[in-house]
Amino acid sequence: MIATISPVSVTEAHPFRQALVDAGLLFPSDVPGVYGRGAAMEAIVAGLDAAISGLGSDDGTSVIRFPPVMSRAMIERGGYLRSFPHLLGTVHCFEGDDAGQERILQQVERGEDWGGEQRLTDLVLAPAACYPIYPASAGTLPAAGRLLDVSAYCFRHEASPDPARMQAFRMREFVRLADPATVEAWRDQWQPRALQFLRDLGLDPRLAPANDPFFGRGGRLLAASQAADGLKLELLVPTSSDVKLTAVMSLNYHREHFGETFAIRTADGAIAHSACTAFGMERIALALVRAHGVEPGDWPAEVRARLRLAA
Ligand code: ATP
Ligand code: ZN
Repeated sequence: MIATISPVSVTEAHPFRQALVDAGLLFPSDVPGVYGRGAAMEAIVAGLDAAISGLGSDDGTSVIRFPPVMSRAMIERGGYLRSFPHLLGTVHCFEGDDAGQERILQQVERGEDWGGEQRLTDLVLAPAACYPIYPASAGTLPAAGRLLDVSAYCFRHEASPDPARMQAFRMREFVRLADPATVEAWRDQWQPRALQFLRDLGLDPRLAPANDPFFGRGGRLLAASQAADGLKLELLVPTSSDVKLTAVMSLNYHREHFGETFAIRTADGAIAHSACTAFGMERIALALVRAHGVEPGDWPAEVRARLRLAA
């Protein structure tokens, strides 16, 4: 049987979520973590997008905007299924005949699982904006390495009543590919830069070591070593709750993982290292609403000016 969504899981009491819906910033659906965005929410996200471009523009970046789907083969090669099989969304499609269609219609009618008639396609839903970059960078990098500005609508299978934990959300990232010293220095200079970016928006961020939500027993070890080695740092601010802070940005150092997997080499022939700086667009927008209120027209003038929100 298809798991039916209980109305409680969708409308579970969440005062901040309710405030966002009442203000027309988010439009709920019958699936937890999937929302429409109102005009004011989109204006905030557009303002953030422009402000983020300003942050990275002095670095001579290549800009690439990805669709919400990407190559399944590349996700398989990159090791995502080893680390996060529980978060991945796959694209399945019907390739059958009339009889197959009839079976689907009957199964739907009976409220049964009709997934048996669907086949895995060569696509998955993008789990992060930077993934398509690594296979596309196979080969030798220019002498200075590469710096990219990417974004995508991302999917993660983590249904929640918390409006800051969506199943579909936008991620913007800067990605650096180069030799280890260059990549580490780049990641380090992003620490004060990211803190200042959020402070300029009237937020009070905390920078802390973190780990990704790796799957299973083996995942606990991976998470512990990732945190101990300082490979992932998060910028945390009150978003859905004043008590439990939420990560709105992350600074990630992958060392040689993607360079080795996808044969990316520096100009002198060594395996390239990589790092990325990720911005959760909806989470930053929600943190701004938490800090300044549901009516962007009432936000402090400096914040409105930074986000180019109309007077
Ligand atoms: P978390 O620990 O909160 O699950 P993460 O470590 O998996 O986050 P990253 O992979 O670093 O997150 O993703 C980069 C950014 O994308 C996060 O800092 C956050 O702002 C945003 N993000 C991640 N997951 C979600 C989600 N479910 N809903 C909205 N934004 C998200
Ligand atoms: Zn990334």
